[in-house]
Amino acid sequence: MSFSQEVKNELVDHIDNGRHCQIAELCGLISFGGKVAQNDAGSVIEFQCDYPKMQKKYFTLSNKANIIGGDGLEFFPETPDTLEQVKGIIVQQTCCKRAYLRGAFLMAGSISDPNKGYHFEVVCKSEKQAQQIQYIMTSMDLDAKIVNRQKHYVVYLKEGEQIVSALGFMGATKALMDLENIRILKEMRNTVNRRVNCEAANITKTVNAAVKQIQDIKLIDEMKGLSALPENLRDIAIIRLENPDASLKDLGEMMTPPIGKSGVNHRLRKISEIADKLR
Ligand SMILES: [Zn+2]
Repeated sequence: MSFSQEVKNELVDHIDNGRHCQIAELCGLISFGGKVAQNDAGSVIEFQCDYPKMQKKYFTLSNKANIIGGDGLEFFPETPDTLEQVKGIIVQQTCCKRAYLRGAFLMAGSISDPNKGYHFEVVCKSEKQAQQIQYIMTSMDLDAKIVNRQKHYVVYLKEGEQIVSALGFMGATKALMDLENIRILKEMRNTVNRRVNCEAANITKTVNAAVKQIQDIKLIDEMKGLSALPENLRDIAIIRLENPDASLKDLGEMMTPPIGKSGVNHRLRKISEIADKLR
């Protein structure tokens, strides 16, 4: 099952207690999945969904909130043929904003597999509908953006942390925990990889430096003999040749008397200068 489907399975069973929230979620379902039809009584709302659990949720909410048939039309602005926005009063309270977003997401939302990337979206039928969803999400500190995709307006989030918050707002607690676990694992993997790369780079640097030092020393030895070097440089040159793998710190400790890392560095640089002159 996709992550998106898991989230929806969790949300479809979530029924709020407050009637205001029940109406708000119902409006979300209708706004994104319903249409206005005409019958003998006039304009009515029709709600069609292939997913039986969603159909069931629609009826449960209608019954609980005590809204019968097409009477929900009063929650939408005065245009009898579209349901693209709800009246502001429906999504005034934070609890109701969450419920509306849940309804919208159930009908028109999706989340990508968090193992692959972070993307949350709600596909809207019009720019106005997208703006209302964006407004609701922004008021909950979600950095929602709108993009025009063919005939649709898509409201989306791109950041893992934001998607975690969105799941929390909609009440998908289990999915939220799953996503957090994936994020932590990913973060750890990234940190480990970064560290490994960094260490590998350092090792390469150290090895390259040691190779260069040994080349310099051998050059001097061939052209002038190491005995031509001042004593302090000769000692470090011999220790370096005998210990090609040792770090500067280790080389310093092998000297009598021991010297610090910067002292070793200084002497090796002098050797390098002498070698460069010979070249
Ligand atoms: Zn409410």
